Amino acid sequence: RAKKLGGNQYSFYDPALQHIIDERLQIEREIISAIKENQFSAYFQPQLDRNGHIIGAEALIRWKHPEKGLISPFHFIPVAEQSGLIHQLQHIVLRDACQLFKRLGSRYINDKQFTLAINVSACQFRTELHQSLLKTLVSFGLSPANFKLEITESMLMNDRENNISQMEQLKLEGFQFSIDDFGTGYSSLSYLHSFPVDELKIDRSFIDNMDDSKGGTAIVDTIIALANNLGFTVIAEGVENQKQVDTLNARNIRGMQGFFLSHPLPADDFIHWVNRYTSEVL
Ligand code: C2E
Ligand code: MG
Ligand code: MG
Ligand code: MG
Repeated sequence: RAKKLGGNQYSFYDPALQHIIDERLQIEREIISAIKENQFSAYFQPQLDRNGHIIGAEALIRWKHPEKGLISPFHFIPVAEQSGLIHQLQHIVLRDACQLFKRLGSRYINDKQFTLAINVSACQFRTELHQSLLKTLVSFGLSPANFKLEITESMLMNDRENNISQMEQLKLEGFQFSIDDFGTGYSSLSYLHSFPVDELKIDRSFIDNMDDSKGGTAIVDTIIALANNLGFTVIAEGVENQKQVDTLNARNIRGMQGFFLSHPLPADDFIHWVNRYTSEVL
């Protein structure tokens, strides 16, 4: 119930809503102290092409809580976005990605086909994103061409003009773009060609559906055809079995990622994985 306070101000008291607000504030305080305690880091999930070559990795943030264990990004990214803390988390992920590049060495840094993908939130497009990204890259002596920025369809559709101009600026600097979770965001297909995008990532729900229906594969084929016609490359995400690998390898895509190939790994494990993989498998 609203109580009139005077002027146009109303005060609402709703215990359920209050609970949500308290919980959000609590998570916000925990994120702040977790940043100070270095509990956040990036994990890396490898991406492979049809020949089994490593073509990159996606950086995924992880919160290692001393009592609660690993906390999923789904629980803290929305709070981080609303509170502005996302900028600090983004910096951690980019820093870890740059450090990983340094450890992988010039063979990967100079490989134009190898990119690290960074997830970017909508709210970051309302800031001087290119400046904060470039500052970190320059401090590591790395180039934007080594990175792909992942954005979602729904994020593109809101505030379209601003997003396109931000993307164009970032592309001028040399960054590439992928549309993440493609097919789930109800984007209008008529706008798709107007975004300066390089790659579509087929959402894992579509990869999942290939297993149980003929129609499922038809949808994946249609997405691949759409991407190819627009000049975008394609990555399949959420690959969980050999049958999916085989189906996808028979198609014109750049590569794939998923638990079947590797789970996201901490930087040390990722480097071990790469070394072992390149010496044993390739
Ligand atoms: P996303 O960008 O679509 O990332 C893919 C998610 O699928 C990751 O979940 C990954 O661990 C998971 N995944 C990978 N392979 C498989 C598979 O074979 N099967 C299944 N079932 N899942 C698979 P994660 O790491 O929990 O991240 C969830 C979401 O949180 C991400 O979805 C992304 O939207 C967001 N996120 C993660 N890191 C960041 C970040 O640094 N910044 C921002 N803004 N968002 C992030
Ligand atoms: Mg992603
Ligand atoms: Mg995705
Ligand atoms: Mg997602």
